[in-house]
Amino acid sequence: MKIIKRDKLKDLLNSFAKNAQTLAPVKENDTIKFLPWKGQGEIDLSQNALLPPKDLLFPQTEVMYRYTDGGVQGEITDVAAAAERQVIFGIRPCDVRSLTMMDDVFMTKGYEDDYYKSKRENTILISLGCNEPQPTCFCTSMGIDMMEADGADIVMYDLGEKLALEPKTDAGEQLLNDVDVLEDGAAEKPVAKECQLKADAEGLAEKLAQMFHHSYWEDLSRTCIGCGTCTYLCPTCHCFDIRRKNIGEEGFQFRCWDSCMFSEYTRMAGGHNPRPSKKERVRNRFLHKLQYFPERYGKVACVGCGRCVGKCPVNIDITRIIGELREVSVDE
Ligand code: SF4
Ligand code: SF4
Repeated sequence: MKIIKRDKLKDLLNSFAKNAQTLAPVKENDTIKFLPWKGQGEIDLSQNALLPPKDLLFPQTEVMYRYTDGGVQGEITDVAAAAERQVIFGIRPCDVRSLTMMDDVFMTKGYEDDYYKSKRENTILISLGCNEPQPTCFCTSMGIDMMEADGADIVMYDLGEKLALEPKTDAGEQLLNDVDVLEDGAAEKPVAKECQLKADAEGLAEKLAQMFHHSYWEDLSRTCIGCGTCTYLCPTCHCFDIRRKNIGEEGFQFRCWDSCMFSEYTRMAGGHNPRPSKKERVRNRFLHKLQYFPERYGKVACVGCGRCVGKCPVNIDITRIIGELREVSVDE
């Protein structure tokens, strides 16, 4: 195990940044976000970042290829080139878990997304255990250990005046060996406080498979304003649209995040929309997380980060919904 004093944290990040793009949770305009570390900034490890670091592997907007001559006879340049090496420092166990779900989506079941894969293979994750959950956190209900992070290359614990780093993979070990600001040491793993918010989604997928036409969805959707905040903040949401931008005869194809909460999301070229109202869209969001994803990948597509719980402007709270879905009769 390696130890670093808190006041030497910037030295550690500076060392990482010499060899790799290093992203750290920095407070800017009262918001914590993962930003490239350039030697300056207020590192804030007090709570999780508002925006999950999923955009570091799956950017909000990403050029896929460029073309000339209108794309008919000209040159086409693929831009899924090998990604730069990156270190994501201070990612929380819930967000590490969400990236393993992104791995499921973008790299399994016979499909490999080169854009995602090239970044993922060049990314080192340094997790930070959560000593104290936020009131909106319920990660332990989703089977997450607040101190450990399955999938992280290095697990880090906050010991107050010091931080302890324990490598979990060869890449993590190598990274720690390459810096000279760490000391060898030992430390007790801190004991995390319990999450106050709970949700029990165990076995819910089977029940939901019988609830597609249930009146619950109409009732639930009434308050939703379709803003998409929940999906953009969610570390497991991964829907995207593909578009083309022409500038004269040249142009590029790009993909950008989309949201199943928007009416245009499912609108087809001829104008037909299979999810024409909020009822179908809200239903899809919850069925995707609690039924479709478990059916396809064997796990609920929610890591209990609480971002949607805290930021939905009309207080649509997935923990309450999971509780209500457990209670409601499938026959209504
Ligand atoms: S954040 Fe709330 S209001 Fe906005 S789309 Fe999501 S559920 Fe609806
Ligand atoms: S559904 Fe909400 S609580 Fe669950 S992972 Fe997504 S943003 Fe976090």
